[in-house]
Amino acid sequence: MSLLPFGGPLNEALATRDLAHVWHPCTQMKDHERDMPMIPLRRGDGVWLEDLEGRRYLDAISSWWVNLFGHANPRLGGAIKAQLDELEHVIFAGFTHEPAVQLAEELVRVAPPGLTRCFFADNGSAAIEVAVKMSFHYWRNRGQARKTRFVTLANSYHGETLGALAVGNVALYKDIYAPLLMDVLTAPSPDASAAEPGESAADVARRQMIPMRALLARHAEEIAGVIVEPLVQCAGDMRMYHPAYLRLLREACDEFGVHLIADEIAVGFGRTGTLFACEQAGISPDLMCVSKGLTGGYLPLSITLAGEEIYDAFYDEYAKLRAFLHSHSYTGNALACAVARETLRIFAEEPVIERNRGLAAHLARAAAPLADHPHVAGIRQTGMILALDMVKDRATGETYDFRERRGLRVYRHALERGILIRPIGNVVYFMPPYVISPDEIDLMVRVAGEAIEAATCD
Ligand SMILES: *Cc1c(COP(=O)(O)O)cnc(C)c1O
Repeated sequence: MSLLPFGGPLNEALATRDLAHVWHPCTQMKDHERDMPMIPLRRGDGVWLEDLEGRRYLDAISSWWVNLFGHANPRLGGAIKAQLDELEHVIFAGFTHEPAVQLAEELVRVAPPGLTRCFFADNGSAAIEVAVKMSFHYWRNRGQARKTRFVTLANSYHGETLGALAVGNVALYKDIYAPLLMDVLTAPSPDASAAEPGESAADVARRQMIPMRALLARHAEEIAGVIVEPLVQCAGDMRMYHPAYLRLLREACDEFGVHLIADEIAVGFGRTGTLFACEQAGISPDLMCVSKGLTGGYLPLSITLAGEEIYDAFYDEYAKLRAFLHSHSYTGNALACAVARETLRIFAEEPVIERNRGLAAHLARAAAPLADHPHVAGIRQTGMILALDMVKDRATGETYDFRERRGLRVYRHALERGILIRPIGNVVYFMPPYVISPDEIDLMVRVAGEAIEAATCD
């Protein structure tokens, strides 16, 4: 297979230098020899990316779910430039700065009620490590040292560092490292696509709460917390579930005395139709992790939010050795805080959530015809995420063998036509920046439809 449609001397020269020394994330590097072009980019503009040859690609996955308001957004770029002339970074122990303080104030103002303390880190996985350590340490400080275990949902994803990997459940990323990982308890996913005939999404939520409650009842004394991705299991094939599950889980966590940890890293900041997905269930978690969209997709930053009850358990005389001594070198980076603060200002000043509602409705209409395709099943949507499964046989639900790499064919075909979508196995999804236009949505979905056709025609 030729990589020529992406070629040209400028692209090829940089791609060659790249492949001589750079080891890319989530990639079998050998794929770049034949199946997967390495595309050097020169600039971005809104939803568009441009390669060295001037070819453009619509970023339909928000650059791995981080970008909210487009590439090279003048307002977000301006916030970083202004901060850059003042203070780029400083040790965050014993020192602070206006961008971090304002960011914490604003985040607490818009977060679910009761989350009043912000612990900073520099990526999503680190925020999960913080939440897990904090939950365990909280119980220890409260004299309940037996509470050391975590409950996770089947098909969940919480990042790639060892602690985050341990509380996740995607076999492709996790299984190989199993000997290195702490042991967790796993409850079934409330994934609405597993509905039995006549069952609604809310019914599935209630049904799947039964084994979760049984697990909590049996192991409450040794469980520190339950960790979930509210409403959408993004890396786990974009499986979606009903908010009733979160409401019932909140009740169960209270009843059995365990923390509810919400991983809003992918779904936070308007992605699901509300600023945070937890809002749709009307609940507040005990710990909440945010990252990705926090900086509008500009710089790495994450925050783990906690309430006063958890904060107080660490607050004591130094000699009692109860403090949370976790740290990262770039904790509270001023540039990242400045652009995160600007991101939250955009939410405060512009009707982003309302605009997204219109865009999400448009996306639903544009994608509806895909449901008629003989190899498409399970179209599902939560706000600005729409996903579908490519299946071999719609009648039986039989899927394609992963070795056929149909998703990779969709990826290539769409790229050739200027759309960046990056299927997860046989799952094709759209998760565009919020600055996409209705016409661009139409283009994105039309090209994806053609790509699916090309990838499933044999
Ligand atoms: C991406 C993601 C993470 C990990 O964040 P990184 O910044 O990639 O470490 C954790 N949880 C969820 C739900 C994610 O989507």
